[in-house]
Amino acid sequence: NQVIVTQNLFKAYTMGTLNVEILKDINISINKGEFVSIMGPSGSGKSTLLYLLGGLDRPTSGSIKINDKELSSMSDKAESAMRRRDLGFVFQFYNLVPNLSVEENVLLPILLDGKKAKKYHERLNELLELIGLADRKNHTPRELSGGQQQRVAIARALINDPEIILADEPIGNLDSKTGIEVMKLLKRINLEKSKTIIQVTHSSESAEYGNRTINLLDGRVCQQSNEE
Ligand code: ADP
Ligand code: ADP
Repeated sequence: NQVIVTQNLFKAYTMGTLNVEILKDINISINKGEFVSIMGPSGSGKSTLLYLLGGLDRPTSGSIKINDKELSSMSDKAESAMRRRDLGFVFQFYNLVPNLSVEENVLLPILLDGKKAKKYHERLNELLELIGLADRKNHTPRELSGGQQQRVAIARALINDPEIILADEPIGNLDSKTGIEVMKLLKRINLEKSKTIIQVTHSSESAEYGNRTINLLDGRVCQQSNEE
């Protein structure tokens, strides 16, 4: 029941004549329904790893399998179709479109795919209920608090009903009370909607909402812990 497996994953950048290894020999496997937190000091490679897992960046060498499919063997077209079907992304700074309403922001992946928004009405309303913003669906992002904006971004990540949510510092820009609310929402999505969640976080408090932590140090996995 492994949804993501990496083997001997390396990522290096060349800077002038220097070859800088950012990720070194990463071997991890994530099961369906897990909520995994990737932790480690700034610069340890957390975001790079998350981006590789989501196919947003390419490894220098090694293997990444999502649902048993090797990413590097997929055509660009197949990979982007897989990404839209199976993955939802949540970023630290929400990345909402300022002049679109809450409802339009949530539907954006559908509209960009050229699909009919009508068909998604039921799911849209369900998600607006889930994030507690059904009464704000016509508001624009600037009329919302940071926590509300992040909840909209989470609903947007779920509109295609993907199996996996990848979140890069999802509460990194929020105060701690608001951050806790967003973490509780992610936990509910993990438990009630059976989504696999992988988050990058600096905060051990937010890591505790996951069932497992992967610690990176200088681009290597230095410790993996089960907290349950
Ligand atoms: P973290 O998320 O743990 O803070 P990152 O994955 O963002 O770490 O970055 C790890 C290291 O890779 C950092 O030293 C960063 O400067 C470097 N890095 C990230 N992206 C690039 C890039 N495009 N070119 C060169 N170095 C990069
Ligand atoms: P509420 O009181 O709003 O219903 P809960 O306190 O029941 O919220 O938490 C919602 C979910 O988050 C539950 O699944 C709970 O197990 C989980 N949770 C709450 N606090 C923590 C924590 N510190 N670490 C890990 N999980 C937590």
